[in-house]
Amino acid sequence: MKNNADAIKSQFRRSASRFYLINLAVLLFLAAMLYLASEYNYYAQAFIPITTLFLIWLFNAGKLLRCPACHQVVRSKEGLIRMPTKCTHCDTSLV
Ligand SMILES: [Zn+2]
Repeated sequence: MKNNADAIKSQFRRSASRFYLINLAVLLFLAAMLYLASEYNYYAQAFIPITTLFLIWLFNAGKLLRCPACHQVVRSKEGLIRMPTKCTHCDTSLV
């Protein structure tokens, strides 16, 4: 039982770090788009699509993080900033 709990925790750590990497990549991509847009003077036209992409990402990013035990989307009360310590569905400790 102990081993199983440890396996779930390390699995969750791995998916959490992958989750952070993807977030970072998306933010860097959006920042690069904004930079290029201002460099080439199409900032006004690019601003709305970039902001839209950012909002879509913001509302969907959380869906990438799943509980290794029950495979439900893990949601934290603090949003994306802090990782949840327990699964809100099956109550498995994740940290
Ligand atoms: Zn769960």
